[in-house]
Amino acid sequence: MISPDQYPTIANQLLTWFTQNKRPLPWRTDYAPYHVWVSEIMLQQTQMERGVTYFNRWMQMLPDVTAVAEAHEDDLLKLWEGLGYYSRVRNLHKAAKIIATEHDGIFPETYSDIRALPGIGEYTAGAIASIAFNQDVICVDANVERVFARLFDIDTPVKQKQNMEFIRKTATEMLPSGRAREFNQALMELGALVCSKKPHCARCPLQENCEAFHLEIPQERPVPIAKKGIKHIDVATGFLMHNGKIYIQKRPEFGVWAGFWELPGGSVEEGETPEEAVVREFMEETEFPVQIKDKILVVKHGYTTYRVTMHCYFLTFAKEHTAEPVLHAATAYQWVNMKELDAVTLPAGHRKLLDHLQTDLRLIPLLENS
Ligand code: SF4
Repeated sequence: MISPDQYPTIANQLLTWFTQNKRPLPWRTDYAPYHVWVSEIMLQQTQMERGVTYFNRWMQMLPDVTAVAEAHEDDLLKLWEGLGYYSRVRNLHKAAKIIATEHDGIFPETYSDIRALPGIGEYTAGAIASIAFNQDVICVDANVERVFARLFDIDTPVKQKQNMEFIRKTATEMLPSGRAREFNQALMELGALVCSKKPHCARCPLQENCEAFHLEIPQERPVPIAKKGIKHIDVATGFLMHNGKIYIQKRPEFGVWAGFWELPGGSVEEGETPEEAVVREFMEETEFPVQIKDKILVVKHGYTTYRVTMHCYFLTFAKEHTAEPVLHAATAYQWVNMKELDAVTLPAGHRKLLDHLQTDLRLIPLLENS
């Protein structure tokens, strides 16, 4: 068992390793609080390489907090499109407005003020306080959890309350005062680059003290928790064409994909065909009587624990009808051409569908007429 006497040695090994091996990331040049904040929010649920591309594009358009505060939400969603988990960007917007109005546009420094901002939990507040302001606060993400689970051979699921308390307490004791910026990043970087899911113990600076390494069980740590079941669902949607335009509507400001533009549609119910489902969904959501002109394609995509099979159709009005819907599942609607449709922010599945459509030679004449 590692004793507290060994903590300073471990911390030094980590700091030396970080100095020599850290990746040159754009927010590591000046550690400006705004840069650290945006990077931390973007990197939740996002691969580093992808995060850096989005970060650089974001900073070109929005160089400071005030620019975010003054931006239109649709523009922020467009910049975020493809990163998923859109509540993150909505919270960035809300937090930027609070910083602009309540903190004179200057990012707050104290842990409690940072933690009070929308979208900032315990981890992110610790990351900003330590990385941007070098305050003696720890931050524990999945990488840190994995390193500690192996270093201390934690033999129960790491998320269990007592394990999380142990990791936080031990990391706090190990943290060298005045070095939080490097220490926290070193732990996370080690978890990302060396003590990754498949660990590279041969090049790890902590090997001599690592319990899992000596027991030859790094791959068995952290102990996994039982996985939630994956749900498979079929949904049906369609392009309703009228006078050369396509119907889209705006989702409500709550729930999944809140505020996004979309094609109407929904789940295929038991005993129903996808064709019947899309006709029913249009009637329920818009009171439009529609009929199927053509089946376009089937798109598969996943989000959270869902695996979605989306059946898509070209639709026309089933009988003479006004172009004005009665909205039951939306807050607004538009009739758009393809170019305009390309410019709006769509849920991931619909965006994938549109990308398919634009490369399908069969469909190009139809779309060009829209
Ligand atoms: Fe992880 Fe291996 Fe290093 Fe232990 S020795 S901390 S298991 S990489």
